[in-house]
Order: sequence, then structure tokens, then C-alpha cells
Amino acid sequence: MAKEIIVADNAGFCFGVKRAVDTAARYYREDRLKVYTLGPLIHNNDVIRKLEEHGIRAITPEQIDDLGPGSVALIRSHGVAPQTYERIKEAGADVVDATCPYVAVIHKKVEQHYRMGYQIVIVGDRSHPEVEGINGWCGNSAIITRDGSDLPDLDPEAKVCVVAQTTERLENYEKVLAAVKSRCRHVAAFNTICTATKNRQESAAEVARQVDLMIVIGSKNSSNTRKLVEISKADCENTILVENRSDLPMDLIAQERFQKIGITAGASTPDWVIADVIEAVRNL
Ligand code: SF4
Repeated sequence: MAKEIIVADNAGFCFGVKRAVDTAARYYREDRLKVYTLGPLIHNNDVIRKLEEHGIRAITPEQIDDLGPGSVALIRSHGVAPQTYERIKEAGADVVDATCPYVAVIHKKVEQHYRMGYQIVIVGDRSHPEVEGINGWCGNSAIITRDGSDLPDLDPEAKVCVVAQTTERLENYEKVLAAVKSRCRHVAAFNTICTATKNRQESAAEVARQVDLMIVIGSKNSSNTRKLVEISKADCENTILVENRSDLPMDLIAQERFQKIGITAGASTPDWVIADVIEAVRNL
């Protein structure tokens, strides 16, 4: 009897990452242009390999100044600081902007409030490219904190604007907001956390509860993929992590005791890798 396969909703790319990968794909056949991404487009070896096959390579911020006319710099979903757009222009290259619209909203809010004299507070990881980019929209003057425990002294009369990295935990945002509100009277707060991650995790748990074996597709070094494994394991002890079809332990999956198979995928797993895995399991 064929096995029943249940694919989790929200498996794989979020809207912003899909948009960035689709944008890059538009340049696959542009042989006249030299196309570069500012940093790896996403953390997935299959995608990076595919981009490289089409001549699209990642460069570091230091390499921007070496771009010249005929080059295209593709900005990934994390977004960048306004100074980066300037540097690309000065280097004579064109910009293709795949900043996720949700991140672009944060840039706007930060820029506007900074102009109105607000001190910007970003809840997030200071070394994450998304946070570095957001900070650029207020002249790199933001206070960056994870949970508010390291907030510097703030003038009670200061105007403060709080935003969050899109992947930050709500709990941290709330802690920082409470800490800021306890010190300052004029606070503008924007919960800019994106729900894509939360939705993906909830869908994975829902499927894991119904199946005998759960397959999570994604890179072993991707933290959001490992989190999906952890969440799935809580409800389905037989959870396995594979990077792609060639990684599938077919003998194990074929076992009689596994009749219902669940499938989900991390945020950097492309549709074609998911479809490949589904096909392999279906063909058993
Ligand atoms: S903001 Fe949300 S949709 Fe946009 S790239 Fe980040 S996780 Fe994806």
C-alpha cells in the first residue's frame, strides 16, 4: 500500500526569500551583465550552486568598490544601509533591490523617526546583516539590544522609537519595550517581527502530531531548520533531517511501521528540493 504523505503548510521559503531567489533567477540568461549578490543570497548549497552555474556570485561589502559599469549588485532580503546604495552607485554598478518589503518598512520607520529626533532602539542581534542595515537608516546611531538588560541611561524626556529584527522573539521585544517605557515618557513602538517563522513552526508541529515519520528538509547548519527538527521531535520521535533527495534513508522510510510520512522544510529550502523529496517518497 502506498504511504500517505502530509506536507506541512508554510514549508520552505518565506515570501521575502522566495522573492529574492526569483529576482536572481531573472538574471540567469543575462550574459551581457556581471551579476553579484551582496553576501550569499541564502544559506542553501543547492541554491548557491545553481546561482554560480549561472555566473551569479556573492561578494563581500569590501568588494563593492571594485564593481564597475555593466555590473549588477543584487541586495538580498535582509536589506542594507542607505550608504551601501550610494557606494554601489559610485562604483558605477546598477542596484537590483530584493529587500523584503517587511524589512523595507522598518527602514522607513527608522529613517522617519530619526529625522523627527527620536533615539532608535533595535531589538535584535547587532552582528546580523538585517540589523546592520536597519542601523544605517539612522546614521548608525541606534541602541541595539537583545533583551533590554544592557540599555544605557536614557533621558526621561527623550523621544525613543523601538523596532525589532524581523526574526526576533516576541518575548525579547516585549522586555525591551517595558524597559524603555519604564524610563522614558515618549515612546513610539513598532512590533516589526515577521510571523513567517512562527507559522512554519506551528504547521510543522501540527503535521508531526499526525504522522509516524517526519522528514525535515534543510541545511544541517541552518538554525531555523534545526529548530524545526526539535519541534517535530517533540511530537514525532521518528524525525529525520535531510538536505535533499540524495540524503534520504530509503530503507528506513520504506519500513512497514511508517505509513504516514510528514514533510516540512526550513526557510532556505527551495521548492524544487521539496518536490524532489516528495517524489522520492511517493515512488516507494
Ligand atoms: S521579513 Fe519575513 S518574509 Fe521577509 S525575509 Fe524575513 S522572514 Fe522572510
